Amino acid sequence: MKKQCVVIGLGRFGTSVCLELSRLGHDLLVIDHKEERVNAMREYAAHGATANATDENALRSLGVRNFEQAVVAIGDDIHASVLCTLLLKEIGVERVWVKARDPQHRRILERIGADRVIQPEYDMGIRIAQNLDSEKIIDY
Ligand code: ATP
Repeated sequence: MKKQCVVIGLGRFGTSVCLELSRLGHDLLVIDHKEERVNAMREYAAHGATANATDENALRSLGVRNFEQAVVAIGDDIHASVLCTLLLKEIGVERVWVKARDPQHRRILERIGADRVIQPEYDMGIRIAQNLDSEKIIDY
């Protein structure tokens, strides 16, 4: 059976997550309040909806409860990101991974039950530094 995932917020990060999950064969539901962003994912996601991710009724009627995992990729609007994460956990989505803008945002998300918090620029910075450190540079 195909793995299923909801991706909420189709900015650069959310879009990149969607494209890769689609390539890996996942069954996707994508949600954004901008219709053109949802339409742009039509080719890659089996289901798409233009909706406000903080609207509990909308999330329920879209059937997010049937998905085991969700990615919340809303960065700028911390209120929307936090509320959406809380709703997804309350509705019963098992694994909710969320993008955070800064350390304060991360702390709030961890407190309210996000299963994994990603701070893309920070996390990638650490990875790059570790990669640089592990390069064998011989300096004579
Ligand atoms: P990027 O991944 O491009 O860096 P970002 O961190 O700047 O994104 P935003 O641009 O704020 O984050 O939001 C990402 C996406 O989430 C946008 O496509 C935006 O339309 C969508 N979005 C923001 N708030 C909501 C909401 N309440 N409901 C649904 N979609 C939303």
